[in-house]
Amino acid sequence: MQHHSPPHSGPCLAITQGKVQLPPLVSSLFKCCFPAVTGKGMNSPERILFSPEKIYMNWRQKRRPGAGLYNLGSTCYLNVVLQCLTYTPPLANYLLSRQHSRCCRQQGFCMMCIMEDHVRKVLYSSATAIRPRAVIRDLKFIGQFKPDIPGDAYEFLRCTISAMQKACLNEGSE
Ligand SMILES: [Zn+2]
Repeated sequence: MQHHSPPHSGPCLAITQGKVQLPPLVSSLFKCCFPAVTGKGMNSPERILFSPEKIYMNWRQKRRPGAGLYNLGSTCYLNVVLQCLTYTPPLANYLLSRQHSRCCRQQGFCMMCIMEDHVRKVLYSSATAIRPRAVIRDLKFIGQFKPDIPGDAYEFLRCTISAMQKACLNEGSE
């Protein structure tokens, strides 16, 4: 299936005019992994959150597909995004390592801690499907979302990545 979206401004995951535009967290990871590729005309990241040798682009072990996600009201838009992030190997590898939560001092809401728990739950569960309860519980901290109102998947992705980046920067500053 192909989507032909109208042109729009702001951050976008699509390839526009031969340039891939990615949200900040992915962008700094990308620059870190491929400095030569991103060096031309792009500023270096202010701070490198992870050194390139710690980023594993492929799965570190073979695993069977994890659990599916139940729709808890009108939450299919966020399930889609959670599944995409769960099956992004460099991110999932990092989350499964629990490197973040081992030194997280965040009181209350922390998107990285939520994602660590979520990815672990999905990939290690023997159930066919699980309920992404922690994400639903903290939905109001992620963005302007409510479990019973259909939301926009792209907007949820943008807010989730932004909240994850914020958590990473908090971690680094303590
Ligand atoms: Zn945390």
